[in-house]
Amino acid sequence: MNVVTARSVAEIIAAMPSKAEADIALVTKAYELSKDAHKDQKRYSGDNYFIHPAEVGFLLAEAGMDSQAISAGLLHDTIEDAGVKPKTIEEQFGPEVLSLVEGVTKLGTLRYRGVERHTESLRKLFAATAKDIRVLIIKLMDRLHNARTLEHVPKIEKRTRIALETLEIYAPIADRLGMSVAKQELEDAAFPYAYPKEYEKTRALLRDRKNENEERLEKVEKDLKRELGEAGIRTFRTEDRIKGVYSLYLKLERRGWDIDKIYDILALRVIFPSVADCYSALGIIHAHWRPVPGKIKDYIAFPKPNGYQSIHTTVYTGDGSALEMQLRTESMHREALYGIASHLTYKEVQEGLPENKRGSLEWVRQFFPRMKKTNTADSPVGTGGTTKETVPSWLQELAHAHHTNQESEEYLDTLKSDFFSHRVFAFTPQGDVIDLPISATPIDFAYAVHSDVGNRMSGARVNGKMVSLETPLRNGDMVEVITKPSARPSRKWHDIAKTNMAKKHIRNALAAMEAKRTGKN
Ligand code: MN
Repeated sequence: MNVVTARSVAEIIAAMPSKAEADIALVTKAYELSKDAHKDQKRYSGDNYFIHPAEVGFLLAEAGMDSQAISAGLLHDTIEDAGVKPKTIEEQFGPEVLSLVEGVTKLGTLRYRGVERHTESLRKLFAATAKDIRVLIIKLMDRLHNARTLEHVPKIEKRTRIALETLEIYAPIADRLGMSVAKQELEDAAFPYAYPKEYEKTRALLRDRKNENEERLEKVEKDLKRELGEAGIRTFRTEDRIKGVYSLYLKLERRGWDIDKIYDILALRVIFPSVADCYSALGIIHAHWRPVPGKIKDYIAFPKPNGYQSIHTTVYTGDGSALEMQLRTESMHREALYGIASHLTYKEVQEGLPENKRGSLEWVRQFFPRMKKTNTADSPVGTGGTTKETVPSWLQELAHAHHTNQESEEYLDTLKSDFFSHRVFAFTPQGDVIDLPISATPIDFAYAVHSDVGNRMSGARVNGKMVSLETPLRNGDMVEVITKPSARPSRKWHDIAKTNMAKKHIRNALAAMEAKRTGKN
């Protein structure tokens, strides 16, 4: 029999970035409460339910999250599934942990409906609901453990739904947050259940290549160590990177299933103490192996939109094949694996720096060497809208939030708590999400749904209550537009509306009404 035991609290503490007494005490208390609350519950696998929250807590600790997030991870199912009172959590762990737990619970009520239109809506809604970015990260880890244990879900429809939802919603969010470890694990756990045939086909191809690839990698690694050593570069470490099965599948689809055209199934990561070492090593590598033209990518000088940094080069390895190498510093490495989660450990990293470097933003600069000084925040309130300016999608905003500016601790706090505070996401009674600028009104909402809806609006209900058309909408509001065939827009609406789109439609409608009136008289 296969008995799975839960992660011990010692394992979680060992993985935590902070070893402060208060942090350890908080996490230990959360561990005990969760263990007790779930003691009579079982997973589909027959294991004790507690293995799930314990693993979520461990994953969060490993990703470098703070003690409140880890505690919330341990407690994330206690309100919904174990009947623990929100008040109990607030009293024992404080309002912040409670709000994290409630945020995760709320996200859990959203369902993927398998319609493309809803996919984007759901991603937006996730973002809107998770006002604290930590909620999103806890939810990702929750899903990661559930995806890893998908084989135990008895109903095939449910298993498929969870698998598709994982690929369509969760993995892309992990990617946008720069959390490549979570992204790859989510994809590879869900892939076999979402697309079983494609999975088998990809796996078979990969299996054929396995030994050949590993031998080659070993030889290149040995040569590399010698070459770098001869040039005086001795402080570095290497790591093998195996491409995820799902990401390989996507690439095979793009390349007509010719596996010989895919050079990055296996890659060699070389991790150096400094950026200068990365560039020196690149020179040494290219002097020894011939680089594949067009395959050199300097993501250190030009980071990817999600903040990813490394130098990539693919070299011919002399055996008729090629190998990708990824050169990076330790902090880039951590950032590449854990993305935004790694920023949340800012305080701990500061404490680890020598006294004279603390608060010097040394650490932030390492991540953002091209950090801009100018503020590139969203357009001012009242000029927003979706017609004239190219408002980036929330996902792009999420990605670029890495590169906005404030060179202070405030910057990281902003990331942490107000990630989505510059947009309002409201939704229709059908669950479609409407993305609006802050202080947008039901009028803006109606026109964002459709100009006919706006032009025929006679009133609006927000969360079931009638409101005036001037009422500013808030994140998560459910807005029901009431229409009447006789209703018409007015000049006053034009003054109330915040988006250019609504204003434009109102002006057009007023002009048409005016033309009709003067034409008749
Ligand atoms: Mn859960």
